[in-house]
Amino acid sequence: MPSFSAGASPQKQQQFARWRQLIRQQRKSLPIASVEKRLVEEVRKNDTLIIVGETGSGKTTQLPQFLYDGGFCQDGKVIGITQPRRVAAVTVAKRVAEECNDQLGKKVGYSIRFDDSTSNATRIKYMTDGLLLREALWDPLLSKYSVIVVDEAHERTVHTDVLLGLLKKVQHSRANANKNGKTLPDVQGHSQNLTLKECQGIRCAPLKLIIMSASLDAKCFSDYFGCAKAVHIQGRQYPVDILYTYQPESDYMDATLVTIFQIHLEEGPGDILAFLTGQEEIESLERLIHERARLFPPESSRIWVTPVYSSLPSEQQMNAFKPAPAGTRKVVLATNIAETSVTIPGIKYVIDPGMVKARAYNPVTGMESLIIIPVSKAQVLQRSGRAGREGPGKCFRLFQESEFDKLVDSTVPEIKRCNLSNVVLQLKALGIDDIIGFDFIEKPSRTAILKSLEQLILLGALTDDYKLSDPVGHQMARLPLDPMYSKALIVSSKFKCLEEMLIVVSMLSVESIFFSVREKLEEARAARKGFESSEGDHITLVNVYRASAECLEKSRNANAKEKTMEKALNRWCRENFINYRSLRHARDVHSQIQGHAQQMGLNLSSCGDDMVLFRRCLTSAFFLNAAMRQPDGSYRALATGQSVQIHPSSVLFRTKPDCVIFNELVRTTQNYVKNLTRIDPLWLAELAPQYYTTEE
Ligand code: ADP
Ligand code: MG
Repeated sequence: MPSFSAGASPQKQQQFARWRQLIRQQRKSLPIASVEKRLVEEVRKNDTLIIVGETGSGKTTQLPQFLYDGGFCQDGKVIGITQPRRVAAVTVAKRVAEECNDQLGKKVGYSIRFDDSTSNATRIKYMTDGLLLREALWDPLLSKYSVIVVDEAHERTVHTDVLLGLLKKVQHSRANANKNGKTLPDVQGHSQNLTLKECQGIRCAPLKLIIMSASLDAKCFSDYFGCAKAVHIQGRQYPVDILYTYQPESDYMDATLVTIFQIHLEEGPGDILAFLTGQEEIESLERLIHERARLFPPESSRIWVTPVYSSLPSEQQMNAFKPAPAGTRKVVLATNIAETSVTIPGIKYVIDPGMVKARAYNPVTGMESLIIIPVSKAQVLQRSGRAGREGPGKCFRLFQESEFDKLVDSTVPEIKRCNLSNVVLQLKALGIDDIIGFDFIEKPSRTAILKSLEQLILLGALTDDYKLSDPVGHQMARLPLDPMYSKALIVSSKFKCLEEMLIVVSMLSVESIFFSVREKLEEARAARKGFESSEGDHITLVNVYRASAECLEKSRNANAKEKTMEKALNRWCRENFINYRSLRHARDVHSQIQGHAQQMGLNLSSCGDDMVLFRRCLTSAFFLNAAMRQPDGSYRALATGQSVQIHPSSVLFRTKPDCVIFNELVRTTQNYVKNLTRIDPLWLAELAPQYYTTEE
């Protein structure tokens, strides 16, 4: 937004007026604009409505504004729009605030885990689906919302699926309460701190539900909501030329790099969007592009790289939405978030390596892992569609045409391939006891549910008769973390090392703290040595965090301003081969969960130099993820019997201790465990007797 203040020069005022005019025109030209009246009318007539429309047709940014103008925020009620991803919630909220000519956090705001921009004045609230699920813990009828829009429902994330089930229940409760309910004077139509069952009889206006999807298959949603009406919005799509490779590509990163420069040198103007699987790939490709671009003569047109992935700080995410500076071509490196969640203007060329990072779960062993797998046909089609938004485009698929037919039609819903402990814990906390009988849009396997129940009992969150335990289960449900991490915080408070555990959990919540560049591998290794602990990766992460805090402290003592301090931290990160973006994110997460821990009355103390105590605490928290070395040098995960290897990124890669606990399992050609700490195997039976017994 051009900067503008009351006393701005006439020139600035003119610029501002032009810019507002442009936004008005852009809004008017969106396919959804012509059906505004009809949509508002349909929402009025139907309690549940399904809206299907091509990506970029204006669903996410426009519909909430239509509903606001249509009077759905009377009596201070709020329109909530859920997104599967953080980035989408943030960027869309910013865009809509701009369109409303208002500051973010007033009429329009967003709320995501660890970051909330909303205020009492907020009427259009974008948030992640996970966050709305959490809100239901405090307010089971979601009483402040008049309308809830579940966006990107086709993605079928585990949170979306659970949310759909919950909203169906809430909608039913609100409709019933309205028929025969009474307003309880002490709750005044609100349902804070009650369970859904206890809310029976509380008067609350009916809830409008809107399910939005980019895929044409609306039937499953319609069936689930009792033949709910579906409305289709006609999209606008220009032709896209699809190109395949002649040979299979063995290294899709390298192929992406080559294709970017091929387009840059041979094709006409237009921005490039390349789909990669995660932060690590995006950052390493970003560096490779910069390295290669240096080889070109300075007068040739330049490449401007902007990354987009979920944990990227929001100011940096917004770069992708800006037009490329004059004389440059924008290259957006994005995860699958750019498939449908956000629409990036200017894209004419799409590069699709055909891969995606996905969660995978083995319900028998209870082990979840991250794997990189081929995308589905539906995703491939969405990706190429991104090239034809503003004019004819080209899509470079980095695989052979024959491979396309082998892809699955659509992705298996996440709820069928992830660990359900978190879901089960949340449903229990909402007072939904019968998890197997819960009305899921698609039921997860019984084995997976039983395995999660078993894990939660082992973690102490549930009692033996499957009730939420007091206080541990309640505390765990309220922490916005994976149950194992919540448990770690609670345990560490008892071990008197919460300070260290808070750091570990924050650092584990972000991807790739360390980075290295090809030509500086030795320097990077040397810098990392300075932080390394022979005990393992967890303590190494604590050392990095503390060193970064010292750097900030130094500049604070020198009375530096906030900006200068950040600059100093950025420099320190570069010198130490630490990923500044990730560290920044970890610091934010840290301050948020520290707040939660304090509210819960946990004991914020440090174990000082007593690393044995800290390792014992890690054992007590992560005992389900223990692995023992085998005679052949591989490891066996004790809970699952799986054979695993130590990932080369671990500080324990060479030392290969007898017994370790780990935090992450990644599957490539082998099973690798990441983020390890060396432990004494005898501690397992001592600290987790509910699971391990000492051999007689
Ligand atoms: P849909 O939800 O149907 O995919 P959106 O409402 O997200 O569509 O986007 C509608 C249009 O708004 C896009 O085509 C794009 O031109 C514009 N737009 C969305 N977000 C931004 C943004 N952050 N900056 C600039 N333009 C945007
Ligand atoms: Mg959208």
